[in-house]
Amino acid sequence: MARVRLKNIKKVYPNGFEAVKDFNLDIEDKEFIVLVGPSGCGKSTTLRMIAGLEEISEGELYIEEKMVNDIAPKDRDIAMVFQNYALYPHMTVYDNMAFGLKLRKRSKEEIKERVFNAAKILGIEHLLDRKPKQLSGGQRQRVALGRAIVRNPKVFLMDEPLSNLDAKLRVQMRAEISKLHQRLETTFVYVTHDQTEALTMGTRIVVMKDGVIQQAADPQTIYEHP
Ligand code: ADP
Ligand code: ADP
Repeated sequence: MARVRLKNIKKVYPNGFEAVKDFNLDIEDKEFIVLVGPSGCGKSTTLRMIAGLEEISEGELYIEEKMVNDIAPKDRDIAMVFQNYALYPHMTVYDNMAFGLKLRKRSKEEIKERVFNAAKILGIEHLLDRKPKQLSGGQRQRVALGRAIVRNPKVFLMDEPLSNLDAKLRVQMRAEISKLHQRLETTFVYVTHDQTEALTMGTRIVVMKDGVIQQAADPQTIYEHP
């Protein structure tokens, strides 16, 4: 049973542009899938369709065997981390991390436990009372990850989460996200245009070009037969 199944998925934007063409992929439970390819090849569109942020024009999307084409983003068992972090500037780190759980009407105690637990995993316990503008880029990125972790989703979606960080921090966060994946033992789908990032992080790499999959294989195979 695939955790996520994309079956003959197609995306045609209202202007008629076909951004994703007949995309087929089964994603298993503990995979770290990296969608990689040049800017404009349809990675982000594909991820956003999984998240429910972009309508699917044709085809079927399943999460754990359930067809979710018409299920709202908040009712899909997924959490997404964005490139620009998308933190609420007026809220503290704690409230940013708690927001999605409040929205889902979890109890105060449960929210507190989950936020503290995630903050501990990410080493940001001391930042919970700060506002986003009082944080460094790397700290903001951790908060964005924390906001996803508290939800304990079946699938983590990440869209170029490291591209706003400087080179050194990017390398460090790569390792942290890989570790996080091992620790949470769940499914990650990660979008990047950076081949090194793809090769070092993915358990399977899906190379896209012009809206189609060119190649899907483990990093070793991709490295040897690019
Ligand atoms: P990637 O994430 O690989 O950079 P995207 O999925 O963002 O690519 O975009 C794929 C293609 O679809 C690009 O050519 C982009 O310009 C186009 N596109 C994205 N959003 C829209 C939109 N709302 N309307 C029309 N075309 C779009
Ligand atoms: P990213 O760099 O994160 O992929 P983009 O700058 O490509 O984001 O796109 C930002 C927003 O503009 C997205 O919501 C995308 O759907 C939209 N967009 C991208 N390309 C086009 C386009 N050619 N026409 C209309 N909207 C677009």
